[in-house]
Amino acid sequence: MIIYDLQCARDHKFEGWFKSREEYDRENQAKRLSCPLCGNSQITLLPAGGHVSVKERTANYDNQKKMVKAFSEYVEKNFDNVGADFAKEALKMHFEEVDHRNILGTMTDGEEKELQEEGVQYVKVPVRKLSS
Ligand SMILES: [Zn+2]
Repeated sequence: MIIYDLQCARDHKFEGWFKSREEYDRENQAKRLSCPLCGNSQITLLPAGGHVSVKERTANYDNQKKMVKAFSEYVEKNFDNVGADFAKEALKMHFEEVDHRNILGTMTDGEEKELQEEGVQYVKVPVRKLSS
């Protein structure tokens, strides 16, 4: 089974379970899919990835907070916290002046733009306030 994140024309997001991409296409084209919240049948497929998917439908706010906390702790333990030097370090790695490693830090909007222009790969994650 494949779980797809779907969205209706009224911006409700929900999951759909399908045997294959073909089955999703077939069901959607036949308008057999509808939003569980409002019944709307203009369903679009949200791009996969780029977000943390909460598997349990019953997950409440506390669980989400716990997940973010656990994730933050993992990142803090396994990544080198370079604080405000993040963009500088990321660029050094990008130009292979230093070895690649996992780094964690903060950057300004201007630095972020620079990284994007250089094509540096990075992800933004929710972390607790960094202590540097
Ligand atoms: Zn809906």
